[in-house]
Amino acid sequence: MTETFRALVVDRDAEKRQFVSIREFTDADLMDGDVTVKIEATTVNYKDGLAITGKAPVVRRFPLVPGIDFAGTVAGSTHPDWKTGDKVVLNGWGVGETHHGAYAGRARVNGDWLVPMPAGMTAETAMAVGTAGYTAMLAVMALERHGLTPAAGPVVVTGAAGGVGSVAIALLAKLGWHVIASTGRTQEADYLKGLGAAEIIDRVELSGPAKPLAKERWAAGVDSVGSTTLANVLSMTRYGGAIAACGLAQGMDLPASVAPFILRGVALLGIDSVMAPKSLRLEAWRRIGRDLDAAKLAGIARTIAFDDIQTAAHDIVEGRIRGRVVVTMPG
Ligand code: NDP
Repeated sequence: MTETFRALVVDRDAEKRQFVSIREFTDADLMDGDVTVKIEATTVNYKDGLAITGKAPVVRRFPLVPGIDFAGTVAGSTHPDWKTGDKVVLNGWGVGETHHGAYAGRARVNGDWLVPMPAGMTAETAMAVGTAGYTAMLAVMALERHGLTPAAGPVVVTGAAGGVGSVAIALLAKLGWHVIASTGRTQEADYLKGLGAAEIIDRVELSGPAKPLAKERWAAGVDSVGSTTLANVLSMTRYGGAIAACGLAQGMDLPASVAPFILRGVALLGIDSVMAPKSLRLEAWRRIGRDLDAAKLAGIARTIAFDDIQTAAHDIVEGRIRGRVVVTMPG
């Protein structure tokens, strides 16, 4: 008998209005690829929230299974690197945007997109990190490549109570940085200090129109917010510092001036997780295994069921999710 599995599908009606339904899929419904993976865990990232709510055009073909990251076991492969039973992780590459993604019992993908499950991790812990955490690691690595170390001064993390922010704080604190966490949820101060934040600031301080230059407050930053927040962060960056920009939770615009770049030698480092080359991914996952404290990761993540994905998607775009959400898939 042909095996069926549930899939969360985003589709459009005749008026091009987006809607979500749960369908029964078989392997015949999956897209082209040389590796089929039984999905054991996935997550709800901000981008998944945008995809499911339709708040931004993340889904670019219909119908489509969203879900930009997963961990699971290879169920079949004609790719030379992978065999049945291998444990794998996937982040990005257009999965959940143009290629059927993680919110289904199985996925068929290009084997080049997969990385091996990092040593010591399970599907659940890898997805507690997920794309948000792997992106936080890419941002930390970019600051390091720029030559910055904790000796340079404090680092600011915006969107601190979110997924990227929470993992970035835990990583940077473990690496010895003095972390300033910017959040709209100051009631989460104990949570952020538990992750390693040394100071908490209210994001209101950074959300208004930015001056070209302001008092120097930090040497480095990880920004998942964009817009006027990133403009303010840049204007407050010390001479020779750098900010790794990865997100747009406040907005995609950047109403900034060139003053921090040309008068303080500040650098703006762009972070993309989706098309990042495999060597960088492998290094990021290796570093996560080394530099992310397992107990802190456990405190960042909570687990939900497949049927709760849509609620979590709405919650994350409304800024109501703290840390990371792991989805365990039905066996
Ligand atoms: P979360 O929703 O978990 O975190 C975003 C955080 O940003 C919120 O928790 C909130 O933090 C803050 N925030 C939300 N709205 C606003 C606002 N209007 N003004 C200021 N701050 C706000 O999302 P993720 O951590 O999963 O992702 C964060 C961003 O990074 C997203 O834009 C996402 O698309 C992007 N991203 C980019 C990647 C890449 O490859 N470049 C990969 C992964 C994510 P608080 O409550 O603490 O203020």
